Amino acid sequence: MSFLNCVECTVCGQRHDPKRLLTVCERCGQMLAARYDLERVATRVSRDALRGRPPGMYRFRELTPLDDGEEPVTLGEGGTPLLPLPRLAAQLGLRHVLAKDEGQNPTGTFKARGLSMAITRARTLGARGFVIPSAGNAGGAAAVYAARCGLPCAVIVPRDTPPAAVAEALIGGAHVFTVEGSIADAGKIVAKLAPQIGWFDLSTLKEPYRLEGKKTMGLELAEQLGWAMPDFLVYPTGGGTGLVGIAKAYEELRAMGWLDGALPRFVSVQAEGCAPVVRAWRDGAETTRAWENPVTHAAGLRVPAPFAGRQMLRVLRDSRGDALAVSETAIREAQRLLARLDGVWTAPEAAATVAALMQLKERGALAAEARIVLVLTGSGIKSDPPPLPRPVDLTGSDDEIVARIQRTLAS
Ligand SMILES: *Cc1c(COP(=O)(O)O)cnc(C)c1O
Repeated sequence: MSFLNCVECTVCGQRHDPKRLLTVCERCGQMLAARYDLERVATRVSRDALRGRPPGMYRFRELTPLDDGEEPVTLGEGGTPLLPLPRLAAQLGLRHVLAKDEGQNPTGTFKARGLSMAITRARTLGARGFVIPSAGNAGGAAAVYAARCGLPCAVIVPRDTPPAAVAEALIGGAHVFTVEGSIADAGKIVAKLAPQIGWFDLSTLKEPYRLEGKKTMGLELAEQLGWAMPDFLVYPTGGGTGLVGIAKAYEELRAMGWLDGALPRFVSVQAEGCAPVVRAWRDGAETTRAWENPVTHAAGLRVPAPFAGRQMLRVLRDSRGDALAVSETAIREAQRLLARLDGVWTAPEAAATVAALMQLKERGALAAEARIVLVLTGSGIKSDPPPLPRPVDLTGSDDEIVARIQRTLAS
């Protein structure tokens, strides 16, 4: 059974009927969010009852918008590990640094959660096809989930999108188009195109259910930490679905009495070359302003004009959080460091959280005992690798090669 009450505007509060295919608020054009009857959820399920359920994000079914009996369009998303990073922690003089490794999702990023949920609902409510502007990973995920339910998909990405994400969209059978500029330019085209062709627009936070998929990261985190919240939650921020989604999870669990205490301090991490949230946070602004000439190799962070700037800033304020920007070099170095120290080859976007952690530690903002969760949003294999040493090429007889390897290992 579904516990979804309504879909409410996060700005003007206008309520919308969830039996309809919804995009943004019909009164003020702002972002919508699903609202549940949380008291009833708490009487129907318990934390203990969850334990017996199979892993994956649909184990939290009562906190999803799915109808009674609705079959999700799924590839097995969620259930990602919360990995301790002991060697990175030791290097920084910290005790509890944990990584939510979202790179282990289908499609290699947490985008799988959002697109599985959004496409499930939209298909049930009658969508005939999908169209999405993307910095890369969302487009790839939309393509494979559309394929999974046999519907067509069009993906519009910037020309310099990482090839693995473009390949994912193509191999999933989507119609893929590249354009000059950033995801903001792709978004303008999709806004004009979607009503013309009648396909459903999956743009970040311009429909209410990608957020519900991303929210499951927060539900899993709560359970994995034994129904507690960390002190800091460090999140690489583009469109902001993950940041807003994890905060929503914690708020719902608090309302159900499954979690108590203060929210973790949310730390939004962006790239120096595209940091609209960081700038708005420093200015004490209510919402973000578009960033001119966004440049960063962390494609998922190249979101110059996030639709949900206002909602992200609200999370930072409500959690006494912070926002900071890291350089391209710091991202590349952090990416190599994390793999070398703790064995996780993470995406550049995600590596930005490691760079941010170092910055926070240097500033003296972190106590050694602080419990810190880094959200590693994607796997390294979805992007071009950072500059690396060349492998040593070997020629000659097997004996010569063995001798050469021995000399190299000894040096
Ligand atoms: C999309 C993306 C982000 C940004 O996520 P938002 O929820 O849009 O802020 C971060 N990392 C990776 C790998 C991404 O694909």
